[in-house]
Amino acid sequence: SVSGKTAIVTGSNSGIGLGVARELAKAGADVVLNSFTDNEEDHKLASDMAEEFGVNVRYIQADMSDAAACRKLVEEAGRCDILVNNAGIQHVAPIPDFPIEKWNAIIAINMSSAFHTTAAALPMMREAGWGRVVNIASAHGLTASPYKSAYVAAKHGVVGLTKVTALETAEEPITANAICPGYVLTPLVEAQIPDTMKEYDMGREEVIKTVMLQRQPSKEFATVEQIGGTALYLCSDAAAQVTGTTISVDGGWTAL
Ligand code: NAD
Repeated sequence: SVSGKTAIVTGSNSGIGLGVARELAKAGADVVLNSFTDNEEDHKLASDMAEEFGVNVRYIQADMSDAAACRKLVEEAGRCDILVNNAGIQHVAPIPDFPIEKWNAIIAINMSSAFHTTAAALPMMREAGWGRVVNIASAHGLTASPYKSAYVAAKHGVVGLTKVTALETAEEPITANAICPGYVLTPLVEAQIPDTMKEYDMGREEVIKTVMLQRQPSKEFATVEQIGGTALYLCSDAAAQVTGTTISVDGGWTAL
């Protein structure tokens, strides 16, 4: 059970990170929420979640593109039994046109941040005698799409880092795994629907099924609750021997 454990979830003031944080809090974990902003709403998110689930929830601002800030987030949390590396951004462009600063930002936020937080968290997990690293990779950690060079490279890198983390902790009560979601209906994805409808001159359902979910055989989005439930499973005793692997939550995308 995750009750009484402390979970740090990077990039958790929206979307999948928030969904995972909520499932962990609902199951009794204390939670550290994070993003690069430091707004009133961020801290309110934490106090509301604490009240809703009766656990401790803190919001700690830290920019996951900054190596020192990643490590400081874990130090500031003071305890880390469960580390969920979720912060991520996307940019789409052909390789010759891909802006160098976008490449660097995606590699830093989507991949290197997981290295830095893991480096800071493993000693704490060893001290506590238990730990779970859950990296939110993507179907793009296992397959590719054109124009997503940085994202696909970073997500494949996260899957590789997950395997190394698992091997370095293999004889300890610590596991490391990656969840590979297909398309998840987050506010970010929801916001793309109207424009895509206009672009293809299609209705909402048609654009979702034929354009957005073209590669997702189930023709259904995965939900943030389902990603949270998968993270919760990886934190359970049933998953104690599940380490160094990936779990796809992608409606069959990677089976194609
Ligand atoms: P989102 O934009 O809703 O969430 C991204 C989170 O990361 C936000 O909380 C944002 O504030 C945070 N973030 C961005 N830059 C940051 C930085 N520099 N420092 C700290 N936090 C930062 O998007 P999402 O869809 O919930 O994506 C979350 C993760 O799931 C990402 O790693 C993404 O690649 C992955 N993913 C998403 C989907 C999908 O379909 N939505 C599919 C597969 C994988």
